Amino acid sequence: MYCPKCGAQNPDNSKFCGNCGTALQTAPVAPVTAAPVETARNNSMAVASLVMGIIGFFINPLSILAIIFGAIALGQIARDPKAKGKGMATTGLVLGVVVAAFWIIALFWLGSALWWVSGRF
Ligand SMILES: [Zn+2]
Repeated sequence: MYCPKCGAQNPDNSKFCGNCGTALQTAPVAPVTAAPVETARNNSMAVASLVMGIIGFFINPLSILAIIFGAIALGQIARDPKAKGKGMATTGLVLGVVVAAFWIIALFWLGSALWWVSGRF
């Protein structure tokens, strides 16, 4: 290893620099962890799920996408413990289910009402 102070080369197992006497680190410096940019950011599927869950309030079919994206995101996050966005994916998934259920019930009632009305004529 090289002395960090004077740059002299020393045997790898030496504790002190043979040239200047500086204590040498025996433990290797921890390598800089690979760019965390890719893993630390929120899972993009989780973001998509949450966005679709919110838009689904207004455009119902998108709440189906919220469920699909949320399920995919949770699967990806489960495989990668460093991935973030589990809360977002869960929120998107739940939003999607709740909104889709609400719309299905609403459409069911609307259909029933139409059927009832049409039976009157
Ligand atoms: Zn030295």
